[in-house]
Amino acid sequence: MTGQRKLKYAIVGAGMAGILAAIRLKERGEDFTVFEKADRIGGTWRENRYPGLTCDVPAHAYTYSFEPYPDWRAYYATGAEIQAYFEMVVAKYGIGPSIRFNSEVTALDWDEGRAKWTLAHRNGERDEFDVVIAASGVLHHPKLPDIEGLESFAGAAFHTARWDDMAPIDGARVGLIGSGSTGIQIVTAINKKVERLVHFQRSPQWVMPVPYFRYSEEERAAFRQNPALIDAIRFSDEYLGNVRRFTDAITDVDGPQMKVIEDVCRDHFENSIRDPELKEKLRPNYRAACKRLIYSWCYYEEVQHAAVHVETGRIARIEPKGVRMADGTLHELDTLILATGFHADRFIRPAGVTGRGGLTLDAFWEQRPTAHYAVTLPDFPNFFMLNGPTGPVGNFSLIDIAERQWGYVDQLIDILRSGEAVAVAPTAAAHAGYEERRIAAAKKTIFGSGCQSWYLDATGVPASWPWSYDAFVEAMARPDFTDYALTASVDA
Ligand code: NAP
Repeated sequence: MTGQRKLKYAIVGAGMAGILAAIRLKERGEDFTVFEKADRIGGTWRENRYPGLTCDVPAHAYTYSFEPYPDWRAYYATGAEIQAYFEMVVAKYGIGPSIRFNSEVTALDWDEGRAKWTLAHRNGERDEFDVVIAASGVLHHPKLPDIEGLESFAGAAFHTARWDDMAPIDGARVGLIGSGSTGIQIVTAINKKVERLVHFQRSPQWVMPVPYFRYSEEERAAFRQNPALIDAIRFSDEYLGNVRRFTDAITDVDGPQMKVIEDVCRDHFENSIRDPELKEKLRPNYRAACKRLIYSWCYYEEVQHAAVHVETGRIARIEPKGVRMADGTLHELDTLILATGFHADRFIRPAGVTGRGGLTLDAFWEQRPTAHYAVTLPDFPNFFMLNGPTGPVGNFSLIDIAERQWGYVDQLIDILRSGEAVAVAPTAAAHAGYEERRIAAAKKTIFGSGCQSWYLDATGVPASWPWSYDAFVEAMARPDFTDYALTASVDA
């Protein structure tokens, strides 16, 4: 039987992780289809086009390990460059013909008797697959603020992931709600274009100062001729060393690495803001790295531009002319940008996923989305997630994370390919034990140290990998197969 079984795979999502899975399966000559809800690939890089969009992971580290890209124009790449990179990769690896665009997956139903998933998509078609790879992303359901009167605003109002190119920005009175990574990047990009920018800030941010520089044509030519120069960046102390130190810090909140992060952020803050009133507005009252750290080379400078007004008062409501504060002040605006984040607990939903015995994903995730080592689910056999719930989050490359998860997934699929089993899923007991350990450790991470962020689940527990980067690398290198139950054959 070994090596005999030909499987049929559905990949949900043609973003970074779905493209990765497609490339790996194509290399093996496997039969796969990618289902993409939109009419283009790219996931988050397709949906986000706001001014200032930059990936705060060094560009050479935010690339597939097997497809280095010598032509990044700067140490950090813009969103448009990253989108172009993924389009180039899809073309180069010939993935396009395997993608079904405008094909939002609406339902996935597991048939235990036949060990098959039935996939339904928006246009009503259904098809059967042996394996589902859910690569549908985390941050793709925009979260609008629950503020009275939002609909009544007479100007252009839109979420950052639904950027309105027609909205007045240049010379306009612009309001911006939200000071996460997105809101901060927008401040730095539009502050000099607007007549006035009112930045409504509910919580200030800790800012890690980082280097920024452009690559010259000579440097790009050198990268082309000598890929080892690219590896030197990917594996540098500046990047990979920092990733290790960062994950050590977030998991050892009173340790030396966290002290370094706190000291650097505090010094940066104390030495950068000149106006005492603004300084108090920007002073966080929680620990650095509790919310996702802002990595920026220019935010503190740009927020001090004369056109920027940081508003820390409570918003009472939104009116046709602008934003009314609780103290009665009305900020009259032409454009209102909502940088208010995403529903991070959706994952593959709203697709209805039904596993063994009619168990739905909504029911399984009633308390919180979980997954065994962030990848698999008991009672949802042959269902594998890339960048699924409780995976590593922070200021590092999710491409690296997805590649390592694929290494883990591929070894589980090998069991199916070999014919040893028709279905593989973690046991409920193994997952429960893992999740208990994960929650206990997650509560002790810096993410759980007393701030609000999208890293927290509905019960306030950090929904993340709570151990070090090296522990993640080790866990992904080889699944603990004793955690998994195999179904040897189908009923018929
Ligand atoms: P976010 O981090 O969830 O931030 C949302 C912001 O909106 C917060 O400042 C929040 O305030 C504020 N907010 C939400 N509801 C509000 C309300 N009703 N009234 C006032 N303020 C409200 O969202 P994001 O900035 O879009 O970033 C999401 C994630 O995307 C990031 O953490 C990161 O993982 C990713 N991202 C990455 C990059 C990159 O460079 N790699 C760039 C952008 C985004 P509170 O803090 O008080 O809740």
